[in-house]
Amino acid sequence: MNTGPAKTNLLGLTRAELEAFIGQMGEKPFRARQLMKWLYKRHVSDFDQMTDLARVFRERLKEVAQGATPEITMTQVSADGTRKWLLSMGAAQGIEMVFIPEPGRGTLCISSQVGCAMDCTFCSTGQQGFNRNLSAAEIVGQVWLANRELGFAPGEDRVITNVVFMGMGEPLANYRNVVPATEILMDDLGFDISRRRVTVSTSGLVPQMLRLAEETNCALAVSLHAPNDRLRDELVPINRKHPIAELLDACWQYVDKQNARSITFEYVMLDGVNDHPEHAYELVRLLKGRPAKMNLIPFNPFPGTRYRRSSAAAIERFRDILNANGVIATTRRTRGDDIDAACGQLVGRVHDRTTVRLGSKLVSVAVQS
Ligand code: SAH
Ligand code: SF4
Repeated sequence: MNTGPAKTNLLGLTRAELEAFIGQMGEKPFRARQLMKWLYKRHVSDFDQMTDLARVFRERLKEVAQGATPEITMTQVSADGTRKWLLSMGAAQGIEMVFIPEPGRGTLCISSQVGCAMDCTFCSTGQQGFNRNLSAAEIVGQVWLANRELGFAPGEDRVITNVVFMGMGEPLANYRNVVPATEILMDDLGFDISRRRVTVSTSGLVPQMLRLAEETNCALAVSLHAPNDRLRDELVPINRKHPIAELLDACWQYVDKQNARSITFEYVMLDGVNDHPEHAYELVRLLKGRPAKMNLIPFNPFPGTRYRRSSAAAIERFRDILNANGVIATTRRTRGDDIDAACGQLVGRVHDRTTVRLGSKLVSVAVQS
């Protein structure tokens, strides 16, 4: 962050927190609304430009506050418009952020931690280990920055219509900062993104899922990846603490509490590991008649991994079994010649392919020449 340590970063404050902050400065709460309008509706973070605030107030704000975002160290644009940014998080650490444009919507995939402690065996972030949590300001700052990069214009339709926490990190392991960030994303004075379009993806931290059901109202995606505990224990080690029955119970409670349509279950397709027809039938037994959607993700290999991506035929067969037996399943879209835009694994339509180092995480990316 391009910040001085003592200043409060306003991008990390919810409306109530901003009102409290402004109150402490001896100003009226409605100043918080004015500030939010500048920050999120006009996309201005320079206090000097906030012309409807008294000059004295602006000067005081400059002393104690700022609207700072992470810094971009690299930008990559694929031929299909997908963009990936590497952001510096200080101390030689980095995170990634990906924007995926599709007809009628634009999805921004953001990170919640530098690294991840959950240790899923098929995930390059997991293999790198955990570095630190991102602050609420660093999380919201990603969206703010992407808006700027994508040419935000006040009054025009936003390019970013959906935000998913599917970049680096386990969002529910950083609950304290992720929840206020989702609040700012959904606040009508903030980014004003509808609750069904802000998705937290979790590997299955059950206690935090139950808390989330009570305390916020965003959409939930759950990384299932296996239909039985024996296999899930191996792929997603948190399963040893919170096995599938407990996890699914938390999912259905979430749907009830939130009056949500469904939970999206992510399932990475690993050749010969979890892609057998019998696994699909096991999933049917778990999910049939439930408010569930399966999202099959072709595995993206990374250097040193022991896994391979399932064949297109195996993925199709798996999806067909689910759909034929009453479980809605889609395959995460691949583009062009098998080009994947999954978070963390961006591959664009390429002239040149390279490998980027994110901390110790290696991501295969494609760059347009
Ligand atoms: N930690 C959260 C969110 C970030 S990971 C979670 O696990 O849900 C976002 C998604 O990418 C998860 O479903 C994750 O399992 C998946 N993923 C991780 N590594 C992958 C890989 N190499 N190929 C394809 N998907 C992967
Ligand atoms: Fe962490 Fe998600 Fe990767 Fe598992 S899949 S190691 S929870 S980022």
